Amino acid sequence: MRGRNPIRKPVEGSGDVLEVKEVFPTLQGEGPLAGMPSVFIRLGGCNLACKFCDTAFEDFSPWSMSEIMSSVRKYARNDQGASVRKLVVLTGGEPFRQPIATLCDTLLEEGFTVQIETNGLLFRPLDARVQIVCSPKNIGKGYKPVRGDILERCLALKFLISASNKDYAYVPDVGQSLLSTPVYIQPMDEYDAEKNAANLALTQELCARHGYRLSLQLHKMLGIP
Ligand code: SF4
Repeated sequence: MRGRNPIRKPVEGSGDVLEVKEVFPTLQGEGPLAGMPSVFIRLGGCNLACKFCDTAFEDFSPWSMSEIMSSVRKYARNDQGASVRKLVVLTGGEPFRQPIATLCDTLLEEGFTVQIETNGLLFRPLDARVQIVCSPKNIGKGYKPVRGDILERCLALKFLISASNKDYAYVPDVGQSLLSTPVYIQPMDEYDAEKNAANLALTQELCARHGYRLSLQLHKMLGIP
């Protein structure tokens, strides 16, 4: 959205209907579960409007739980009907903006692994089996510590790196040193070959210097959604 989306507030409700942009099969391209065949549920709206945001999430509509689950079940299977995508990723936008506990419970009951990608500013109590990957954002006044309820159950932190944007040219300690949370760093995609090459070089340098793990956007390399 490149920062052109409206900043949306959290919404409450039973979670029987959620604002969904799309459900689609892919592989997880980023972070600790990269490479896993997945079904993505892209939820609508975000509580931030980052200038570099590479995702469209505003064209959403209300989906009932049964509509979401029937799409997930369909895309979890291959053409022969075998269950091949056992990971469901809730992404956005910002998934914690919406009441997602019922959806997570339903997915877990059906045997899926559930991962949430969040910017770490919002939280809702969820089943302990839900895996959270947090990608903190620097919203102009420096990074803030990740809230404790997210940090204590965070599978990994993922930071974006940009050589030309001083807000993203470094990795802050937002709490990872307290709990030895794994840190992944990922070159920001600025849709500019020269900038992207500099971002990759800086990311590699920071990995080599500090021992961070490299995250690349596999789905973009493969040309899949
Ligand atoms: S937090 Fe993520 S989804 Fe939301 S605007 Fe920023 S980059 Fe986009």
